[in-house]
Amino acid sequence: MYDYHLHSHFSGDCNEQMEETIKKAIEMGGKHLCFTDHLDYDYPTHEIDFEGFDEKAFTAHINQLQDKYSEIKLQKGVELGLQTHLANQCDAFVKNFDPDFVLCSFHVAKRQDLFNGDFYENRTPEQAWLDYYEDVYNTLNVFKSYCVVGHLDIPKRYNEKVKDVDIKAYESALDKVLIKIIEDKKGIEVNMSGLRTPQMETLPNRLILQKYFDLGGSIITIGSDAHRKEDIYSHFKEVLLMLQEIGFEYLATYEKMKMIPIEIKTVLEKL
Ligand SMILES: [Zn+2]
Ligand SMILES: [Zn+2]
Repeated sequence: MYDYHLHSHFSGDCNEQMEETIKKAIEMGGKHLCFTDHLDYDYPTHEIDFEGFDEKAFTAHINQLQDKYSEIKLQKGVELGLQTHLANQCDAFVKNFDPDFVLCSFHVAKRQDLFNGDFYENRTPEQAWLDYYEDVYNTLNVFKSYCVVGHLDIPKRYNEKVKDVDIKAYESALDKVLIKIIEDKKGIEVNMSGLRTPQMETLPNRLILQKYFDLGGSIITIGSDAHRKEDIYSHFKEVLLMLQEIGFEYLATYEKMKMIPIEIKTVLEKL
């Protein structure tokens, strides 16, 4: 099992000790974990500290735990919160951090918080999608130091009206983003957090995953977005089967930012 989206006590919104998660993974028969703790520069609200990621302590801790638990492969990742004006700062961070994996996530659009709902004030639900994907597109035009884009349809996670908008209202803005990702030879993640909520769907949902595939996209990672150890490897087999149904043949894994494809069929046979 692979998990390319996972938080530990190095994230401002997570209290789970990294070592506890590793022990749980071993207990579940896991052979691999990539920790992607949060770093969001210039976050517009301050209820949670997303800016205080201590990358030196994080690296030292992973190295120490890797020595202690040689039966599992641990990787150093980051969930980097992007905004267009932060491209250079994030680029410099990645060069210095030297990670295995960078998840490029959008928690903010037009400098407003998607999570606490500020972004949806004074916008129609349709305009919220258009503005969000415009921001993502503009950012991906100037930021390239990443592997995959995280939870690509995240606005639906936090707002019911936004969730109910028909995809046709923002399809061309979304297509531009997907084509940009494919042209740049980057990928997207399938984020399992939505399957643990009443929404019961992945982020992005199957419709968008199918669209990405139909446009020629092939690079895809699987991430639980676990903030508690119980949620690692969440719905792993179920989502692999869905990806296979859509037509994906490989799962993307990373080593020092280099993509290494793993055949889905082979992974399924071993589960
Ligand atoms: Zn996120
Ligand atoms: Zn996350």
